[in-house]
Amino acid sequence: MKSRIAIQLPPPFAQIPRHPILYPDPSPIHPLHAISSSSTTPQTPLISIFAKREDQGSPLACTGNKYRKLEYIIPDIVSPRPIYHYHEYHPTTQPLQGPATILVTEGALQSNHTVQVAALARKLGLKALVLLNKDAGGGYKTSSAPESFAKLGNVQVNKLLGAEIRMYNADDPETADAQPVLEELVQSGHRPYWIPGGASLHALGGLGYARAAFEIAGQESELQLGGSGHFDFIFVACGSGSTVAGLISGFKLLEKLQMSSSPSSSESSWPQRPRNIIGILNSPTKPRGYHEERVLRFARRAGELIGLENADKEITMDDVRLDDRFVGEGYGVVDEETRRSLSMMAEREGVVLDPVYTAKVAAGMIHTVQSEEMARYAQAYGLKEVNVLFVHTGGQAALSAYFDRVT
Ligand SMILES: *Cc1c(COP(=O)(O)O)cnc(C)c1O
Repeated sequence: MKSRIAIQLPPPFAQIPRHPILYPDPSPIHPLHAISSSSTTPQTPLISIFAKREDQGSPLACTGNKYRKLEYIIPDIVSPRPIYHYHEYHPTTQPLQGPATILVTEGALQSNHTVQVAALARKLGLKALVLLNKDAGGGYKTSSAPESFAKLGNVQVNKLLGAEIRMYNADDPETADAQPVLEELVQSGHRPYWIPGGASLHALGGLGYARAAFEIAGQESELQLGGSGHFDFIFVACGSGSTVAGLISGFKLLEKLQMSSSPSSSESSWPQRPRNIIGILNSPTKPRGYHEERVLRFARRAGELIGLENADKEITMDDVRLDDRFVGEGYGVVDEETRRSLSMMAEREGVVLDPVYTAKVAAGMIHTVQSEEMARYAQAYGLKEVNVLFVHTGGQAALSAYFDRVT
């Protein structure tokens, strides 16, 4: 029997309140043999690709990366005086006089985040209201069956969960004006707790993936990886940004602690080179620089909370690597490359990705592992084998809304 990997977080990180909604065991990491062997060529080192299954992390509906973030937000939601609800963003509004009674959030029509917030609300015995923007990205606009797009997939699941759904149109995906909705709720006696899209603007939004870094490091040693002994490259989707940002801050702290515990030992397990964390963007709407600035900000904010006292100096733009070559035609648009990537993973590995995020990540990862960069990296560090981690963040429930684009 495999022993459970206990995640050891250092203080002050270990003291930050967290309400578990994930399974107590780490989400699984397993090898992707077929795409590893087809990615290994005479021009590349041995490529070993693994998947971390964040789509299998929680018993709650449509499990995915947002539950990990929400674990650190729940203590505030249920506290007698929540701090980070809407008042935090708009100080003119009244602070809540008691624990939240309804969670309110926003997203694109097929948003996975809204479903995870709605399921969490129900789990906590609260109501949920979700604001769904029909114009965010191009999923609805380019669907050959927009009426179905607005009913299937995550919209259906949101209804099943009993969330109140309000659809609206806005060309700028960030213009959800929650304030009137929240005021209306307050008027009718509710205590609404606002969670911004993807939970990334939430002050605690980066902590879940900072913790995931420690979880991954524990799994690295259990997996007995070849080569450097750790994942040299980690590919993860970057949408609202706090998933990749959390990983950046968590690994930064971890590597700092490892370095200080074995500063000069040549036998040390300290990696000679920090892990390369690569965020794959999925939307051409905003330029890469916009996302880089946000990810840096979120990583520093999480870094400060977990114990990087000089997060502003310790985490720099050099740590933020975002790739915008695979964004395709639009957020939520399944173009030819995205469709190929979905089919490839399904047909070769029997693994189903989601059409909005992870299909683009897989496309970017396959491209990058076969590029010169891998060969150069392996040569520079004397490695015959390069270990790669693909983070599967969930989202498969959206597939049925894309019935006309996928298959
Ligand atoms: C939200 C989401 C992401 C992006 O995570 P961010 O933290 O918003 O960058 C990736 N994959 C899936 C399936 C998601 O639902």
